[in-house]
Amino acid sequence: MLNFTVGPVQSGEQVLAVGGEQTPYFRTPEFSGLMLENERMIRELAGAGEGSRAVFLTGSGTAAMEAAVMGAFTAEDKVLVVNGGSFGQRFVDLCALHRIPYTQLKLAYGCPLMEDMLEPYRDAGYTGFLVNAGETSTGVLYDMEMIGQFCREEHLFLVVDAISAFLADPLDMEAMGAGILLTGSQKALACPPGVSIVVLSREGVERVEAGEPRCMYLDLKNALKNGERGQTPFTPAVGILRQIHVRLREILEAGGAGAENSRIAGIAADFRQKIQGLPLEFFTGAMSNAVTSLRPLHGSAYRIFTVLKDEYGIWVCPNGGELADTVFRVGHIGALTKEDNTTLVNALRDLEKRGLL
Ligand SMILES: *Cc1c(COP(=O)(O)O)cnc(C)c1O
Repeated sequence: MLNFTVGPVQSGEQVLAVGGEQTPYFRTPEFSGLMLENERMIRELAGAGEGSRAVFLTGSGTAAMEAAVMGAFTAEDKVLVVNGGSFGQRFVDLCALHRIPYTQLKLAYGCPLMEDMLEPYRDAGYTGFLVNAGETSTGVLYDMEMIGQFCREEHLFLVVDAISAFLADPLDMEAMGAGILLTGSQKALACPPGVSIVVLSREGVERVEAGEPRCMYLDLKNALKNGERGQTPFTPAVGILRQIHVRLREILEAGGAGAENSRIAGIAADFRQKIQGLPLEFFTGAMSNAVTSLRPLHGSAYRIFTVLKDEYGIWVCPNGGELADTVFRVGHIGALTKEDNTTLVNALRDLEKRGLL
Protein backbone atom coordinates (compact mmCIF):
# COMPACT_ATOMS: atom_id res chain seq x y z
CA MET A 1 0.00 0.00 0.00
CA LEU A 2 1.19 3.48 -0.84
CA ASN A 3 -0.74 5.98 1.27
CA PHE A 4 -1.27 9.56 0.06
CA THR A 5 -4.26 10.28 2.29
CA VAL A 6 -4.27 13.03 4.92
CA GLY A 7 -4.38 10.73 7.89
CA PRO A 8 -3.65 8.18 9.07
CA VAL A 9 -0.49 8.52 7.00
CA GLN A 10 2.59 6.37 6.51
CA SER A 11 4.91 6.05 9.50
CA GLY A 12 8.69 5.93 9.36
CA GLU A 13 10.90 3.06 10.52
CA GLN A 14 11.47 4.26 14.08
CA VAL A 15 7.77 4.80 14.76
CA LEU A 16 6.94 1.40 13.26
CA ALA A 17 9.58 -0.30 15.40
CA VAL A 18 8.13 1.13 18.63
CA GLY A 19 4.68 0.02 17.45
CA GLY A 20 5.89 -3.58 17.56
CA GLU A 21 6.95 -3.42 21.23
CA GLN A 22 4.97 -4.42 24.31
CA THR A 23 3.00 -1.63 25.95
CA PRO A 24 4.46 -0.80 29.39
CA TYR A 25 2.65 0.16 32.58
CA PHE A 26 2.56 3.93 32.77
CA ARG A 27 2.32 5.15 36.40
CA THR A 28 6.09 5.10 36.59
CA PRO A 29 8.89 7.67 36.76
CA GLU A 30 10.10 6.36 33.38
CA PHE A 31 6.83 7.11 31.60
CA SER A 32 6.50 10.46 33.40
CA GLY A 33 9.95 11.35 32.14
CA LEU A 34 8.98 10.47 28.59
CA MET A 35 5.81 12.56 28.82
CA LEU A 36 7.63 15.58 30.21
CA GLU A 37 10.00 15.33 27.26
CA ASN A 38 7.05 15.02 24.87
CA GLU A 39 5.60 18.20 26.32
CA ARG A 40 8.87 20.08 26.09
CA MET A 41 9.48 18.99 22.49
CA ILE A 42 5.99 19.83 21.24
CA ARG A 43 6.10 23.27 22.89
CA GLU A 44 9.39 23.94 21.16
CA LEU A 45 8.10 22.81 17.76
CA ALA A 46 4.94 24.92 18.14
CA GLY A 47 6.85 28.03 19.20
CA ALA A 48 4.60 28.21 22.23
CA GLY A 49 6.84 30.48 24.30
CA GLU A 50 7.50 31.11 27.99
CA GLY A 51 4.92 29.83 30.43
CA SER A 52 3.26 27.63 27.81
CA ARG A 53 2.07 24.07 28.39
CA ALA A 54 0.90 21.13 26.28
CA VAL A 55 -1.39 18.25 27.08
CA PHE A 56 -1.87 14.96 25.29
CA LEU A 57 -5.45 13.70 25.10
CA THR A 58 -6.43 10.20 24.16
CA GLY A 59 -8.87 10.70 21.31
CA SER A 60 -8.68 11.77 17.69
CA GLY A 61 -8.19 15.40 16.68
CA THR A 62 -11.83 16.25 17.31
CA ALA A 63 -11.28 15.51 21.02
CA ALA A 64 -8.75 18.34 21.09
CA MET A 65 -11.17 20.64 19.22
CA GLU A 66 -13.94 19.90 21.72
CA ALA A 67 -11.64 20.20 24.74
CA ALA A 68 -10.41 23.57 23.48
CA VAL A 69 -13.88 24.93 22.78
CA MET A 70 -15.14 23.79 26.21
CA GLY A 71 -12.02 24.87 28.05
CA ALA A 72 -11.57 28.31 26.52
CA PHE A 73 -15.10 29.62 26.02
CA THR A 74 -18.40 29.91 27.87
CA ALA A 75 -21.86 31.33 27.20
CA GLU A 76 -20.38 34.74 28.14
CA ASP A 77 -18.12 34.70 25.09
CA LYS A 78 -18.83 35.59 21.51
CA VAL A 79 -16.64 33.89 18.94
CA LEU A 80 -15.97 34.23 15.24
CA VAL A 81 -15.64 30.91 13.43
CA VAL A 82 -14.12 30.53 9.97
CA ASN A 83 -16.16 27.92 8.12
CA GLY A 84 -14.63 26.97 4.79
CA GLY A 85 -15.34 23.24 4.83
CA SER A 86 -16.07 20.25 7.01
CA PHE A 87 -13.52 21.10 9.73
CA GLY A 88 -14.74 24.70 10.02
CA GLN A 89 -18.26 23.30 10.21
CA ARG A 90 -17.09 21.08 13.10
CA PHE A 91 -16.12 24.16 15.13
CA VAL A 92 -19.54 25.66 14.32
CA ASP A 93 -21.26 22.46 15.51
CA LEU A 94 -19.17 22.43 18.69
CA CYS A 95 -20.10 26.03 19.52
CA ALA A 96 -23.77 25.25 18.91
CA LEU A 97 -23.66 22.09 21.04
CA HIS A 98 -21.88 23.81 23.91
CA ARG A 99 -24.06 26.94 23.64
CA ILE A 100 -21.23 29.31 22.93
CA PRO A 101 -22.49 32.40 21.08
CA TYR A 102 -20.85 32.51 17.66
CA THR A 103 -20.92 34.01 14.21
CA GLN A 104 -19.67 31.98 11.30
CA LEU A 105 -17.71 33.41 8.41
CA LYS A 106 -18.87 31.01 5.74
CA LEU A 107 -16.58 30.74 2.75
CA ALA A 108 -17.18 29.09 -0.59
CA TYR A 109 -15.25 25.79 -0.79
CA GLY A 110 -11.66 26.40 -1.81
CA CYS A 111 -11.74 30.15 -1.12
CA PRO A 112 -9.32 31.80 1.29
CA LEU A 113 -10.34 34.31 3.96
CA MET A 114 -9.60 37.85 2.81
CA GLU A 115 -8.70 40.71 5.11
CA ASP A 116 -11.70 42.85 4.15
CA MET A 117 -14.08 40.06 5.17
CA LEU A 118 -13.02 40.62 8.79
CA GLU A 119 -13.69 44.36 8.83
CA PRO A 120 -17.40 44.15 9.73
CA TYR A 121 -16.46 42.28 12.91
CA ARG A 122 -14.28 44.93 14.48
CA ASP A 123 -15.43 46.51 17.76
CA ALA A 124 -18.44 44.22 17.75
CA GLY A 125 -18.11 42.52 21.13
CA TYR A 126 -16.24 39.41 20.01
CA THR A 127 -13.96 37.66 22.50
CA GLY A 128 -12.63 34.69 20.55
CA PHE A 129 -11.69 33.36 17.13
CA LEU A 130 -11.74 29.76 15.92
CA VAL A 131 -10.00 28.72 12.74
CA ASN A 132 -8.52 25.63 11.10
CA ALA A 133 -5.13 26.89 9.89
CA GLY A 134 -5.48 24.36 7.09
CA GLU A 135 -9.02 23.42 6.05
CA THR A 136 -8.05 19.88 5.15
CA SER A 137 -11.32 19.13 3.36
CA THR A 138 -10.48 21.62 0.58
CA GLY A 139 -6.70 21.97 0.99
CA VAL A 140 -6.90 25.71 1.76
CA LEU A 141 -4.30 27.29 4.06
CA TYR A 142 -5.54 30.49 5.68
CA ASP A 143 -3.34 33.53 6.12
CA MET A 144 -2.55 33.05 9.81
CA GLU A 145 -0.41 36.15 10.00
CA MET A 146 -3.35 38.28 8.90
CA ILE A 147 -5.74 36.46 11.25
CA GLY A 148 -3.28 36.75 14.14
CA GLN A 149 -2.92 40.47 13.53
CA PHE A 150 -6.71 40.94 13.52
CA CYS A 151 -7.04 38.98 16.77
CA ARG A 152 -4.31 41.03 18.42
CA GLU A 153 -5.93 44.30 17.41
CA GLU A 154 -9.37 43.14 18.55
CA HIS A 155 -8.12 41.33 21.69
CA LEU A 156 -9.63 38.02 20.62
CA PHE A 157 -8.52 34.72 22.13
CA LEU A 158 -7.27 32.76 19.12
CA VAL A 159 -7.71 28.99 18.89
CA VAL A 160 -5.92 27.44 15.92
CA ASP A 161 -6.77 23.96 14.72
CA ALA A 162 -3.45 23.08 13.13
CA ILE A 163 -4.21 19.39 13.11
CA SER A 164 -3.09 18.94 9.51
CA ALA A 165 -1.00 22.11 9.09
CA PHE A 166 1.33 21.65 12.08
CA LEU A 167 4.85 20.89 10.76
CA ALA A 168 3.59 21.06 7.16
CA ASP A 169 3.13 24.83 7.02
CA PRO A 170 5.07 27.55 8.84
CA LEU A 171 3.10 28.15 12.05
CA ASP A 172 4.49 29.68 15.20
CA MET A 173 2.21 30.29 18.17
CA GLU A 174 4.05 33.36 19.41
CA ALA A 175 4.16 34.91 15.95
CA MET A 176 0.43 34.29 15.44
CA GLY A 177 -0.44 35.25 19.00
CA ALA A 178 -2.36 31.98 19.32
CA GLY A 179 -3.74 31.09 22.75
CA ILE A 180 -4.27 27.45 21.83
CA LEU A 181 -2.91 25.32 19.00
CA LEU A 182 -4.18 21.82 18.25
CA THR A 183 -2.69 18.88 16.46
CA GLY A 184 -3.07 15.12 16.26
CA SER A 185 -0.94 12.01 16.11
CA GLN A 186 -2.02 10.79 12.67
CA LYS A 187 -1.16 13.81 10.51
CA ALA A 188 2.39 15.17 10.07
CA LEU A 189 3.48 13.45 13.29
CA ALA A 190 2.96 10.29 11.25
CA CYS A 191 1.95 8.06 14.14
CA PRO A 192 -1.22 5.98 14.45
CA PRO A 193 -4.44 7.88 15.27
CA GLY A 194 -5.54 8.09 18.89
CA VAL A 195 -3.73 11.01 20.49
CA SER A 196 -4.52 14.68 20.06
CA ILE A 197 -2.44 17.51 21.42
CA VAL A 198 -3.49 20.84 22.90
CA VAL A 199 -0.69 23.40 23.17
CA LEU A 200 -1.51 26.40 25.36
CA SER A 201 0.32 29.72 25.53
CA ARG A 202 0.74 31.31 28.94
CA GLU A 203 -2.48 33.22 28.29
CA GLY A 204 -4.16 29.99 27.20
CA VAL A 205 -3.17 28.27 30.44
CA GLU A 206 -4.51 31.18 32.49
CA ARG A 207 -7.78 31.17 30.60
CA VAL A 208 -8.31 27.43 31.07
CA GLU A 209 -7.32 27.63 34.76
CA ALA A 210 -9.89 30.36 35.33
CA GLY A 211 -12.74 28.31 33.82
CA GLU A 212 -15.00 25.60 35.17
CA PRO A 213 -14.80 22.09 33.70
CA ARG A 214 -17.92 20.92 31.86
CA CYS A 215 -16.76 17.45 30.91
CA MET A 216 -14.72 15.00 32.92
CA TYR A 217 -12.76 13.23 30.20
CA LEU A 218 -11.83 16.32 28.20
CA ASP A 219 -11.13 18.60 31.15
CA LEU A 220 -7.99 20.54 30.21
CA LYS A 221 -7.53 21.84 33.75
CA ASN A 222 -7.23 18.31 35.10
CA ALA A 223 -4.95 17.33 32.21
CA LEU A 224 -2.71 20.33 32.95
CA LYS A 225 -2.54 19.47 36.63
CA ASN A 226 -1.61 15.82 36.00
CA GLY A 227 0.81 16.88 33.30
CA GLU A 228 2.90 18.79 35.82
CA ARG A 229 4.27 15.43 36.96
CA GLY A 230 4.25 13.89 33.47
CA GLN A 231 1.03 12.00 33.96
CA THR A 232 -2.50 11.92 32.55
CA PRO A 233 -5.75 11.65 34.56
CA PHE A 234 -6.76 8.40 32.84
CA THR A 235 -4.95 5.58 31.02
CA PRO A 236 -3.62 7.22 27.86
CA ALA A 237 -2.77 5.60 24.53
CA VAL A 238 0.62 4.62 25.99
CA GLY A 239 1.93 2.98 22.84
CA ILE A 240 1.16 5.97 20.63
CA LEU A 241 2.71 8.36 23.14
CA ARG A 242 5.90 6.29 22.96
CA GLN A 243 5.78 6.49 19.17
CA ILE A 244 5.24 10.25 19.35
CA HIS A 245 8.33 10.45 21.57
CA VAL A 246 10.65 8.88 19.00
CA ARG A 247 9.07 10.91 16.23
CA LEU A 248 9.45 14.25 18.03
CA ARG A 249 13.09 13.44 18.72
CA GLU A 250 13.62 12.52 15.10
CA ILE A 251 12.14 15.84 13.92
CA LEU A 252 14.22 17.90 16.35
CA GLU A 253 17.40 16.02 15.47
CA ALA A 254 16.76 16.68 11.78
CA GLY A 255 16.58 20.42 12.39
CA GLY A 256 13.19 21.11 13.98
CA ALA A 257 9.93 22.55 12.68
CA GLY A 258 11.55 24.63 9.93
CA ALA A 259 13.41 21.66 8.48
CA GLU A 260 10.34 19.40 8.58
CA ASN A 261 8.36 22.21 7.00
CA SER A 262 10.81 22.49 4.12
CA ARG A 263 10.90 18.73 3.64
CA ILE A 264 7.08 18.52 3.32
CA ALA A 265 6.98 21.66 1.15
CA GLY A 266 9.53 19.98 -1.15
CA ILE A 267 7.39 16.85 -1.49
CA ALA A 268 4.30 18.98 -2.22
CA ALA A 269 6.08 21.15 -4.80
CA ASP A 270 7.55 18.09 -6.53
CA PHE A 271 4.08 16.53 -6.86
CA ARG A 272 2.48 19.75 -8.10
CA GLN A 273 5.16 20.12 -10.72
CA LYS A 274 4.98 16.48 -11.86
CA ILE A 275 1.21 16.59 -12.54
CA GLN A 276 1.56 19.44 -15.02
CA GLY A 277 0.08 18.31 -18.31
CA LEU A 278 -2.37 15.90 -16.71
CA PRO A 279 -6.07 16.78 -17.02
CA LEU A 280 -6.28 17.91 -13.40
CA GLU A 281 -7.03 21.34 -12.00
CA PHE A 282 -5.96 22.71 -8.62
CA PHE A 283 -9.10 23.19 -6.56
CA THR A 284 -7.69 26.16 -4.69
CA GLY A 285 -4.97 28.75 -5.18
CA ALA A 286 -4.22 29.05 -1.45
CA MET A 287 -2.71 25.62 -0.84
CA SER A 288 -1.38 24.09 2.34
CA ASN A 289 1.79 22.02 1.96
CA ALA A 290 -0.07 19.19 3.66
CA VAL A 291 -2.41 18.40 0.80
CA THR A 292 -3.25 19.12 -2.84
CA SER A 293 -6.93 19.17 -3.77
CA LEU A 294 -7.52 18.27 -7.38
CA ARG A 295 -10.43 18.50 -9.74
CA PRO A 296 -10.26 16.03 -12.62
CA LEU A 297 -11.37 17.60 -15.90
CA HIS A 298 -12.96 14.30 -16.97
CA GLY A 299 -14.22 11.39 -14.97
CA SER A 300 -15.45 10.96 -11.42
CA ALA A 301 -13.08 11.85 -8.60
CA TYR A 302 -14.53 9.10 -6.45
CA ARG A 303 -13.99 6.53 -9.18
CA ILE A 304 -10.38 7.63 -9.54
CA PHE A 305 -9.90 7.06 -5.80
CA THR A 306 -11.46 3.59 -6.06
CA VAL A 307 -9.49 2.47 -9.10
CA LEU A 308 -6.19 3.73 -7.67
CA LYS A 309 -6.87 1.82 -4.46
CA ASP A 310 -8.15 -1.43 -5.95
CA GLU A 311 -5.97 -1.73 -9.04
CA TYR A 312 -2.77 0.14 -8.19
CA GLY A 313 -2.55 -0.20 -4.39
CA ILE A 314 -2.32 3.59 -4.08
CA TRP A 315 -4.53 5.46 -1.66
CA VAL A 316 -5.47 9.06 -2.30
CA CYS A 317 -8.10 10.81 -0.23
CA PRO A 318 -11.66 10.95 -1.50
CA ASN A 319 -13.88 13.90 -0.65
CA GLY A 320 -17.25 13.56 0.97
CA GLY A 321 -20.55 15.31 0.50
CA GLU A 322 -21.03 17.70 -2.39
CA LEU A 323 -17.45 17.38 -3.60
CA ALA A 324 -17.31 13.56 -3.68
CA ASP A 325 -17.51 13.26 -7.46
CA THR A 326 -15.56 16.38 -8.36
CA VAL A 327 -12.56 16.55 -6.00
CA PHE A 328 -9.96 14.18 -4.60
CA ARG A 329 -6.94 15.02 -2.47
CA VAL A 330 -3.33 13.97 -2.40
CA GLY A 331 -1.58 14.29 0.94
CA HIS A 332 2.09 15.14 1.33
CA ILE A 333 2.50 14.34 5.03
CA GLY A 334 3.94 11.14 6.45
CA ALA A 335 6.84 9.04 5.27
CA LEU A 336 6.64 9.82 1.54
CA THR A 337 9.38 10.44 -0.99
CA LYS A 338 9.65 12.09 -4.39
CA GLU A 339 9.91 8.58 -5.89
CA ASP A 340 6.52 7.83 -4.33
CA ASN A 341 5.18 10.92 -6.11
CA THR A 342 6.49 9.51 -9.40
CA THR A 343 4.70 6.21 -8.74
CA LEU A 344 1.43 8.06 -8.20
CA VAL A 345 1.88 10.32 -11.22
CA ASN A 346 2.63 7.29 -13.42
CA ALA A 347 -0.59 5.68 -12.20
CA LEU A 348 -2.51 8.87 -12.99
CA ARG A 349 -1.00 8.90 -16.51
CA ASP A 350 -2.19 5.34 -16.91
CA LEU A 351 -5.70 6.34 -15.84
CA GLU A 352 -5.62 9.11 -18.42
CA LYS A 353 -4.73 6.56 -21.13
CA ARG A 354 -7.58 4.36 -19.96
CA GLY A 355 -10.00 7.29 -20.29
CA LEU A 356 -10.72 7.40 -16.56
CA LEU A 357 -9.17 10.83 -16.07
C1 LIG B 1 -7.78 15.53 10.68
C2 LIG B 1 -8.29 16.84 11.13
C3 LIG B 1 -9.04 16.97 12.30
C4 LIG B 1 -9.33 15.83 13.23
O1 LIG B 1 -10.12 14.85 12.78
P1 LIG B 1 -10.20 13.49 13.59
O2 LIG B 1 -10.87 12.57 12.61
O3 LIG B 1 -11.03 13.74 14.79
O4 LIG B 1 -8.80 13.10 13.94
C5 LIG B 1 -9.46 18.22 12.68
N1 LIG B 1 -9.17 19.30 11.96
C6 LIG B 1 -8.44 19.23 10.84
C7 LIG B 1 -8.12 20.48 10.10
C8 LIG B 1 -7.98 18.00 10.39
O5 LIG B 1 -7.25 17.92 9.27
